[in-house]
Amino acid sequence: MSPQLRCKDKKIVEVAVFAPLRSTFDYVFAPDNNTNLNIKIGSRVRVSLRSSERIGIVVRVSRLDATGDRKLKNIVEVIDNKPVVSRKMLALASWAASYYHHPIGEVISLMLPGKLRKGDSVPRSKNYIWNISQSGRAALETGTVNGARQFELLQFLASEPNRGLETFQSLTFAWQAPLKKLVEKGWATRTVCKVREVGTISSKSKVILNSEQMNAVSIIERNLGKFCPSVLYGVTGSGKTEVYFEVMQKVISMGKQVLFLLPEIALTKHLISRFRERFGSQVALLHSARSNSERVSAWRDCRSGKVSILLGTRSAVWFDLPNLGVIFVDEEHDSAYKQYDGFKYSARDIAIVRAKRNNISVILGSATPSFETLANIKNGKYGVIKLRDRPRALVDTRTKILDVRSSSLKSGLSTILIEKMRHHLRLGQQVVLFLNRRGYAPLLICRECGDIRSCYRCDAYLVYYKSRGILSCHHCDYKISLEKISACCKDQNMAPIGLGTESIEEEVRQLFPEKNVARVDRESIKFGDSFEVILRDIEAKKIDIVIGTQMISKGLDFENVTLVGVIDADSRLYSIDFRAEERLAQLLIQVTGRAGRGGKAGEMVLQTHRPDNPVLRRIIDEGYEAYSDIALGERQLAQLPPYVSMVIIRAESQYASRPPFFLLGVKRLLEKNSRRKLKVTDPIPALMAQRAGRYRYLLVISVMKKSDIQDCIGSTILEIENLARKIKLLWAIDVDPHDTL
Ligand code: ADP
Ligand code: ZN
Repeated sequence: MSPQLRCKDKKIVEVAVFAPLRSTFDYVFAPDNNTNLNIKIGSRVRVSLRSSERIGIVVRVSRLDATGDRKLKNIVEVIDNKPVVSRKMLALASWAASYYHHPIGEVISLMLPGKLRKGDSVPRSKNYIWNISQSGRAALETGTVNGARQFELLQFLASEPNRGLETFQSLTFAWQAPLKKLVEKGWATRTVCKVREVGTISSKSKVILNSEQMNAVSIIERNLGKFCPSVLYGVTGSGKTEVYFEVMQKVISMGKQVLFLLPEIALTKHLISRFRERFGSQVALLHSARSNSERVSAWRDCRSGKVSILLGTRSAVWFDLPNLGVIFVDEEHDSAYKQYDGFKYSARDIAIVRAKRNNISVILGSATPSFETLANIKNGKYGVIKLRDRPRALVDTRTKILDVRSSSLKSGLSTILIEKMRHHLRLGQQVVLFLNRRGYAPLLICRECGDIRSCYRCDAYLVYYKSRGILSCHHCDYKISLEKISACCKDQNMAPIGLGTESIEEEVRQLFPEKNVARVDRESIKFGDSFEVILRDIEAKKIDIVIGTQMISKGLDFENVTLVGVIDADSRLYSIDFRAEERLAQLLIQVTGRAGRGGKAGEMVLQTHRPDNPVLRRIIDEGYEAYSDIALGERQLAQLPPYVSMVIIRAESQYASRPPFFLLGVKRLLEKNSRRKLKVTDPIPALMAQRAGRYRYLLVISVMKKSDIQDCIGSTILEIENLARKIKLLWAIDVDPHDTL
């Protein structure tokens, strides 16, 4: 037998490379008889592409046609002999790539943790458990443990035997190094766990569901095992999570897996510990703070079936759970489900499509469902289950719209609000003040000439940060210290105008010097205590007054917070973004949910200069359902989403003429290919027409039938890409955009 391989042993392998390339590439694979290595769809391979080596996934394998004379390169290396992406997940990736018009290789890469994307081998499952040793107990008792972390860890190990890796996630400090030390000292032991750990379901964490909740559970359970989206519509505290838990229990007992998605900010230690209490180590966690190796373990354990529940944020929707039985999307209206950079997908929508392809149920939970979801309820595509009672907090929150037009404001706080703060604080309760603007003041103005300092690279004013003594642009990374800004007039006399969380904090500290005040915004989290630490302190009542941006508006559950003040509700009422009002309504309802959770009367005060604004009045007086009914009608009349499908194409360049020229070309291409089925606007300058030194334009495409838009863009996308390459500019496509400015 000739050592030469015969043609029929060789294969053509189609590879989706992890790179922003729209096409896949063919290579030749010649099996090596010595290693018996084969190639499978879903395995990673290393290939050479344009003189560099890349990693990609095999998406198709076919026989090499002997008559073909194509000169194909060989595969450089087959990394996996078993697939790392299942066919089901590949099919989902292929759907998402064509729906969002995004390169397939980049979509598939999301299905792997970062380390595997870079070519690391799949680690074997090591299933360790930790215990405190005799000498460890002795050290605890004699108080000879040096180091607060080692001490805390020992206590943690002492409190429960056989601690699995997952249980350490509830600790709020870096436990890896001190744990290693404990094992080295012999105070703790690490052993391999042979049996599959079963979750510890403690009965103390179970509540007795009320009839509404039981009804919800039975409806959802009846629909398990078929594609059936249901919306669990209930205010914060109405007991949705308890309903989810009951359904999960059932799904797990059938041997199936659960995917539970939620927005980053809602993933508090509090919720995680509720999950752990109920389901023990069957839960894997996936969110932005997890390390690379933690991601790999979560990924591996989901695939092997060791994990029954994957609890995670947006990116978890891409993780394979071979035995998936149900998907939950909590706070489904939250804009954090949409990715704004790069691949602009909506994790909520992917979850729904995934459920449909798997023929399983998907449950969307919210107190304020998105308009897309409400429209789907109205047209009968989704079922709805309402929870109206609040099992624990029996008292509803009273909301007061406070007309501040003629009141004197102390750094934005009206006398009435200050009096109410005093009252609640005197009762030993906590107060949250809410302002969606960080910094000290949004403007810094020269008292002599009226000049306002703006960013030299963006169409935006610089925001003043007093404590750090800088001006900063919120749209690019530009920062300048106050001393360095050039003088416009002889006597440099700059005044801050407007409010920010920092100036409210300053005022509150002066008004209530004896109280503990904390600020929660992106800046304070970056330079001060972490979000987790602040949350813990609020819960422990170490903080009396919290001032924050929308970071504090969601998913937090504090019993003792009884007053919520919204400092400025006006700015969002007058935005030209058609979604701004919907978001304001959701935000206000969510913020209301912050107060009155522990059975104490809650109060919300909403400061406004437009007390008679009909939208505001409807939201507050009639509630979200009544408001959204009318607002949806308006969307339909105006032919806006969710009643039409929308795609936005954005372009930017440092040369002002290029984006409109390019977009005009795109419009022509689309019109040519769509035979005028699509409605395409002319190129429009973005609301912020210049950002980070680049001129920005956009094109809005809308159509009644979703498939029309998909087909037309799909058949034009390569031409658009060629045009962009010719004109040399940056461009992006956003299907179902959240942000239309
Ligand atoms: P949501 O998810 O809608 O915000 P949760 O399920 O978190 O509501 O419930 C809010 C609070 O009420 C939680 O502390 C929960 O333990 C409690 N709770 C929910 N249902 C019941 C019930 N049937 N009996 C007693 N407490 C309940
Ligand atoms: Zn800027």
